[in-house]
Amino acid sequence: MGKVNYARQTEAVIEDLKREGRRPRLLLHSCCAPCSSHCMEYLREYFDLTVYYYNPNIDEEKEYAFRLAEEKRLIAEYNRQVEEGDFASMRSTPAASRIEVLEAPYDPDRWHACVRGLEDCPEGGDRCTVCFGLRLEETARAAREGGFDFFTTTLTISPLKDAERLNRIGQKMGDKYGVAFLPSDFKKKDGYRRSTELSGLFGLYRQNYCGCSYSKR
Ligand code: SF4
Repeated sequence: MGKVNYARQTEAVIEDLKREGRRPRLLLHSCCAPCSSHCMEYLREYFDLTVYYYNPNIDEEKEYAFRLAEEKRLIAEYNRQVEEGDFASMRSTPAASRIEVLEAPYDPDRWHACVRGLEDCPEGGDRCTVCFGLRLEETARAAREGGFDFFTTTLTISPLKDAERLNRIGQKMGDKYGVAFLPSDFKKKDGYRRSTELSGLFGLYRQNYCGCSYSKR
């Protein structure tokens, strides 16, 4: 069986929305500002976005808070663009809408309990599957509670993360919580390169490790 093209699936959903004249609410799980930069630029054209910051995998509270502060700084800049109609250097149109933020409390104990026994797995292995599952499950739960139409994650923008696994987990959590999962492979269609460009444009902090203390090794 050939590889699934998740980027094309995103486009197919967007084409349906355009045809139906719908603009749904989407809860976008974000790991950090650099990864969300392109995802938000792309999705805000078609969805009313709320960014969900839930990353209990991050090793230190100071790092958690700093990544969140950068996320909020970027969203404030995107919202200023919308208010002022100022899209210089952006791939945006007047269809772009404001973005809200929903932040979850820092909860590393729960994450450590979930990955117990998997500490020595290499990056990309079983510990990451559990980590993705926890973050996507909480996003699906929050999406249901908030009455969102869709949820998805910025994690597929990373060339180091398995988009097939992320989409499979997202679909499973969507089924469990009764909220549509938006399939994605945000790195495709120039997405990853665009995220590095936007990170440079806004001077975003780009951490040199994924998040957990094991990924620092
Ligand atoms: S390497 Fe990243 S995705 Fe994998 S367990 Fe650590 S924080 Fe989670």
